[in-house]
Amino acid sequence: MFGRAPKKSDNTRYYEILGVPKSASQDDLKKAYRKAAIKNHPDKGGDPEKFKELAQAYEVLSDPEKREIYDQYGEDALKEGMGGGGGHDPFDIFSSFFGGGPFGGGGGSSRGRRQRRGEDVIHPLKVSLEDLYNGTSKKLSLSRNVICQKCKGKGSKSGASMKCSGCQGSGMRVTIRQIGPGMIQQMQQPCNECRGTGETINEKDRCPQCKGEKVVPEKKVLEVVVEKGMQNGQKITFPGEADEAPDTVTGDIVFVLQLKDHSKFKRKGDDLFFEHTLSLSEALCGFQYVLTHLDNRQLLIKSNPGEVVKPDQFKAINDEGMPMYQRPFMRGKLYIHFTVDFPESLTLDQCKALETVLPPRLATQMTDMELDECEETTLHDVNIEEEMRRKQAQAQEAYEEDDDVHGGAQRVQCAQQ
Ligand SMILES: [Zn+2]
Ligand SMILES: [Zn+2]
Repeated sequence: MFGRAPKKSDNTRYYEILGVPKSASQDDLKKAYRKAAIKNHPDKGGDPEKFKELAQAYEVLSDPEKREIYDQYGEDALKEGMGGGGGHDPFDIFSSFFGGGPFGGGGGSSRGRRQRRGEDVIHPLKVSLEDLYNGTSKKLSLSRNVICQKCKGKGSKSGASMKCSGCQGSGMRVTIRQIGPGMIQQMQQPCNECRGTGETINEKDRCPQCKGEKVVPEKKVLEVVVEKGMQNGQKITFPGEADEAPDTVTGDIVFVLQLKDHSKFKRKGDDLFFEHTLSLSEALCGFQYVLTHLDNRQLLIKSNPGEVVKPDQFKAINDEGMPMYQRPFMRGKLYIHFTVDFPESLTLDQCKALETVLPPRLATQMTDMELDECEETTLHDVNIEEEMRRKQAQAQEAYEEDDDVHGGAQRVQCAQQ
């Protein structure tokens, strides 16, 4: 269906990705990209690789100049032309196409299609679990480039500039070289004389404020509002607050929340987990204690009368988990995981006292005759994790000795009779 390429280079793949014929019009391309990009957007559970490929294909084919290079020389010629960087962020292409995105949110203003889009600046922002529970705001001082007010971004006193002689004002330098019989490679790189701007400014005419740079550094304080219930990794965007540059749509400053570990609470989604150790008496006879929550409220945690808490048991308190993002009056659960601290040993008297209230022991119900028929054994203390690790290592070395000395660590041992 696709015409054979005159040269060996692959120049059909981008058409295949978008599912259009090589004769597709700009309108066909737009429709195809739009449909496929919405379907494959990672926010909607699409494959990020496929989404990236779509953006790449559309970026090239929607630009008549790039499309021509692609049709003639294939992908490789373009890759080198882009300085090896491999084009733009697929999300930028997506949002410039939809002017802010069809899913709402994201702080995308409608951006001009002809203007270049400046890069987004991404900062990690460390937050504590208390910050995410209570909400907070943090003031951050950042340095950014802004358009020089004295020359209005022209870079010169007179407002004049000259075409760069290195690139004739295009900002790009194209070099063509022969790489084999009938094989031509076209390389496009930003001009280094004018750093891709396509113009130069006479030294005497340079703006004294920015020295011809068109931009000046500026300190800016941003107030980042961390809302209740936000998640680790969530982004807070300041649209158009990144570095300014002439003829460029300013990119965004994006803060990415990084949750610090908490010494007591763990978070899973909207729920919180808390570890608590009980003594054996507390586990058997009841307990109460005070838990200081993430907003410093004191919660009284207590067992029901007569209730026994078993080792490794979980209990939950409704509505004491994390507040939900943008619905802060709704909250998850607070789970408490109980560990029971058993005594290391008991005296004979203690055992006797316990036996008066606990269910009787099995051994005391056996007759002497039954006992005589049994063989004596000895129980050793073991660190079971270490034992298993050692055994696995041994198995790997192909030693397979049957050595059945298993048995869990017995922590409650009554003194020998
Ligand atoms: Zn130049
Ligand atoms: Zn200036």
